[in-house]
Parts: sequence; C-alpha cells; structure tokens
Amino acid sequence: MAANIIDGKAFAATVREKVAGHVARLKEEHDITPGLAVVLVGEDPASQVYVRSKGKQTVEAGMNSFEHKLDADTSEADLLAVVDQLNKDPAVHGILVQLPLPGHLNEDLIINSIAPEKDVDGFHISNVGLLGTGQKSMVPCTPLGCLMMLRDYHGSLSGMDAVVIGRSNIVGKPMAQLLLGDSCTVTIAHSRTKDLPDVVRRADIVVAAVGRPEMVPGDWIKEGATVIDVGINRIERDGKNVLVGDVDFASCAERAGAITPVPGGVGPMTIACLLANTVTACCRANGLAEPE
Ligand code: NDP
Repeated sequence: MAANIIDGKAFAATVREKVAGHVARLKEEHDITPGLAVVLVGEDPASQVYVRSKGKQTVEAGMNSFEHKLDADTSEADLLAVVDQLNKDPAVHGILVQLPLPGHLNEDLIINSIAPEKDVDGFHISNVGLLGTGQKSMVPCTPLGCLMMLRDYHGSLSGMDAVVIGRSNIVGKPMAQLLLGDSCTVTIAHSRTKDLPDVVRRADIVVAAVGRPEMVPGDWIKEGATVIDVGINRIERDGKNVLVGDVDFASCAERAGAITPVPGGVGPMTIACLLANTVTACCRANGLAEPE
C-alpha cells in the first residue's frame, strides 16, 4: 500500500491565506494591525534563516514585523530589558525569542519574562500549565501544526493510539498534551524507552520528534498508521547536502496510510501557526472574537 502524502506546504498556504484575511478585516473594521516581534541573539546560521523567513511571511500576511538582532555577548539584563520593552509596546501582539540562546543566557528565565498573552511560541510556564489543564492558552506552533494536519486528515482522533517519540518541551510534551486533549491514548517514548519498535508498532498515529536522521524504519509502522515526521536533519548523501526527517520516508510510506514528507510537511505549518497565534493574541488583546 502506498501512503497518502500529507501536503504540509499546501495546507500551510491555506492557513496563511486565512490569516491574511483576518488581518485585512482587523485593519478594515478596527484599524488594528497585528505585530510580531522576533528577537535573535547571536549569529546561529539556522536561526538566521528561520528569523528571515518568519519576518518575510509576517509581512506577506499584512502584519507588522519587528526584528531585534542582538550581539552574541548580549547580557541577560540587556535581553530582559528588550523583552520588557516589547511587553509594554501596544503595537506588539506577539513576541518570539529565537532559541537556542547563547550558553550564558538562562532560556527559562528569558522565556518566562515574556508576557504570557504575547508568548506566541507557547513556551511560558503559564501557557504550558494552561495547555496541560485544557484551558485557553497559546499553543506551541510545531505541535499545533501537527494537530491541524491530523484533524484535517482524520476528522476525529478520539480513541486512537498515538505514540510521540521525543519528550522535549517544545515539541514532544506539548504534542502529547494536544493529542490527549483530542482523546487519543498517548504514549510518550524517549531515549530510555524499552522496546521502542514494539511501542511504535501499536500506534495508529506516530509523531517522530527525535532529531536523528531516518531513525524510524518502515517495519516499526503498523499497516495504515499515520506518520507525522517533525525531524529536520541536514545530512550529506551522494555528495549533496539534503534535508531528511526522523523517519525513513521510503520504507514508512510503504506501510503507512498517510505520511508527512520532509521537507514540505511539518516545517511550513510551524511558521503558518506562528502567524495564526499572533492574530489570536492580537484579537485577545483587543477583546475581539478570535479566529477559529
Ligand atoms: P530535542 O533534542 O530537544 O529532543 C529529542 C528527543 O528525542 C528527546 O526527548 C530524546 O530523549 C529523544 N531521543 C533521542 N534519541 C532517541 C532514541 N534513540 N530513541 C528514542 N528517543 C530518542 O529535540 P526537539 O524536540 O527540539 O526536536 C526534535 C526534531 O524536530 C529535530 O530534528 C528538530 O530539528 C525538529 N524540529 C522541527 C521543527 C519544525 O518546525 N518542523 C520545530 C522544532 C524541532 P531523551 O529526553 O531521553 O534524551
């Protein structure tokens, strides 16, 4: 059986179109332009690419983009002062501090200094707690994008067995919370999990967020399961630099019912969800109805 390919690139384009529609309405009906501030500390090449792409898509959706590029040796006090200024700025509805931060900066401290209602990455402990208790929160963009694709493909996820491989705070744990919120039976696997192949073989839904190129082979996948590949790994193959996911696409696609490709799966959905979260934050800040 050949799996259906879940086209994250096309789905993300429809999400961005909806976002642009909301932005246009906010401007027309309320004279409000949502604004997203992105703070980049240092010159990590991958982070620079992400920040450029976020800024470009923010502007394309009709929103204001504010970029704050700080030197790699910026002190914690100076970074906290930038976040504080953005927290107070009424033109800024969403704040994102690009991770990873240079080693001398305490990531938890910085993230928790962002006003929770402007925390469009959903990493502030208040948002983590709200998500964990099923309350209205800012939901982390990558797991939100995965959930949207799963809901779109399956309709209801209720009662499905889901295995999330990876327990990071930015992907694995919030992904598991979202699947639990949609009434899946959720297993979180990690580097100490016993018999990982057997655990994965039970799953109707497999979300791989490991950071190991093509780690999941097709024979771990239950026939007809849905595979969401979060991994972004740059490897060299046949003398070329290529992007691959955490699952071995060719063999997994032979057994899965549906699968996301890398690139063109989860990645584009992440930025689209960031834009959507910024519009949501803007609506909440202004007491307006939120987009669905
Ligand atoms: P982390 O490194 O923070 O977490 C990786 C997780 O994988 C850990 O929980 C770790 O377990 C687990 N793990 C590592 N090795 C194994 C193994 N052999 N078997 C089972 N579990 C294992 O990564 P992130 O969550 O930040 O990212 C995961 C991947 O997703 C990366 O490729 C990253 O680039 C990608 N990513 C993609 C995004 C997108 O927009 N598409 C956004 C964010 C990330 P343990 O906790 O025990 O160490």
